[in-house]
Amino acid sequence: TQESAPAATPSAQPTATQDIPGIVQRARERFNEDVTRPLAWRDAQLAGLAEFVTKEADAIQEALRDDLRKADFESYMAEIWPLTIEVADARKNLKRWTSPRKVKTPSVLKPASGVLRPDPLGVVLIVSPWNYPMNLVLAPLVGAIAAGNCAVLKPSELAPATSRLLAERLSNYVDGECFPVVEGAVPETTALLDQRFDHICYTGGARVARIVMAAAAKHLTPTTLELGGKSPCIVHDSAKLGVTAKRIAWGKFMNCGQTCVAPDYILVSESCHDALVKELKSTIDEFYGSDVQQSPDYPRIVNEAHFDRVAALIDPDKVAHGGQTDRSDRFIAPTLMTDVTADDAVMQDEIFGPVLPIIKIRDVDEAIRMVNSREKPLALYLFAEDKGVEEQVLSRTTAGGVTVNHTILHLSNGNMPFGGVGESGMGAYHGKWGFDTFSHLKPVLKKATWIDPPITYPPYTSWKSKL
Ligand code: NAD
Repeated sequence: TQESAPAATPSAQPTATQDIPGIVQRARERFNEDVTRPLAWRDAQLAGLAEFVTKEADAIQEALRDDLRKADFESYMAEIWPLTIEVADARKNLKRWTSPRKVKTPSVLKPASGVLRPDPLGVVLIVSPWNYPMNLVLAPLVGAIAAGNCAVLKPSELAPATSRLLAERLSNYVDGECFPVVEGAVPETTALLDQRFDHICYTGGARVARIVMAAAAKHLTPTTLELGGKSPCIVHDSAKLGVTAKRIAWGKFMNCGQTCVAPDYILVSESCHDALVKELKSTIDEFYGSDVQQSPDYPRIVNEAHFDRVAALIDPDKVAHGGQTDRSDRFIAPTLMTDVTADDAVMQDEIFGPVLPIIKIRDVDEAIRMVNSREKPLALYLFAEDKGVEEQVLSRTTAGGVTVNHTILHLSNGNMPFGGVGESGMGAYHGKWGFDTFSHLKPVLKKATWIDPPITYPPYTSWKSKL
């Protein structure tokens, strides 16, 4: 863990917008030269990526400290380690994923055989946000490389140290022309979006997602949109409250609440409301001590604009714990708000900060109704030992993904797709799902020639139409 306050963030060094078409063009030339197709090349690039993540681990942790004051352990747990797993999984399965996948052939088409051959798409664009600024650039890249694509990377300008590190050093480990890093903000991203790509993977908010999708429409470019939203956390009477509080607090206050799948709000029945609040309070003390601002393990809000936005959501009359803020340090304490209603400001948009509203509900039915009255969330959490309640919630709600009796962990399983639904996104990646996202599964039917029944050919004589 680190001790110091954030160092002065390095100034962003945006890529000159006039250079952007040439950067994309060069990647396309490399793709057209078939550089990315051989499996040995893909594997070498993945190995280079793994090396970047491990050899530059100290520099990555330092950049994340500069950008978000993340504790080194948290950077390792939530950014570096998942990348090493993702790359190792892709390398292990590369041959299997890239092999033609046999499908059944209906008897009417026989003699014939059919396969799906994964083709690379071409040049993809990966646009990433600031909250997990290393992971959210490189995790999609793993699937893109494995599938045989070139990829242009656009890290977030709001995490400038991480963006700089990627721009300066990634090309020491992977092919810099096939995987160039474009730095910058709106003008640079706009210049990128003017270019033609074969796929765009955007992670961030829904407002900009609409801009990305509109730009993609001009070139008929398919998009994967990894967005956010208000992820509910339902706590049922049958939940074990001690462990529930720890797991909610861990998922909520990690990265100072700036996690797309953080539990956004809690729905809890009257009967265990007070006990849950008590457990949450003692968990926060246990995690970060009595003076959270001094805790080396508690990050900061990314910038003043987000600080002002999150701080304004705190209604002092409803604070049950925390509530302290310090703008000069971009510090907002882990904050519990009780007696919250659906009309409160904190319940309008995704909070994306360490403020946790707690709403009392009468029963599971009411919780389900509340969840279903809102946009489809990126994640849903349910804490319950009662299997009947579990089935009721799972069968009557929808969400990008669900963890039962914990938070966030469903996206750590590379055998599951990670993505949203409705307003929380479209498409998915992680593991083989990432490979498939950046591939075209080309159906190939191979027909035998040793027999050629004339049934389908003209002339369509009357005996044929009676068949
Ligand atoms: P952000 O401001 O860093 O924006 C994301 C990217 O969009 C950046 O690279 C930025 O340069 C670019 N961008 C911003 N404005 C643009 C414009 N007008 N035109 C073109 N490009 C533009 O990040 P953010 O949007 O604040 O990210 C937070 C949101 O992302 C939250 O809603 C969160 O839930 C979501 N998120 C989702 C995931 C996921 O995997 N589903 C992960 C992290 C964050």
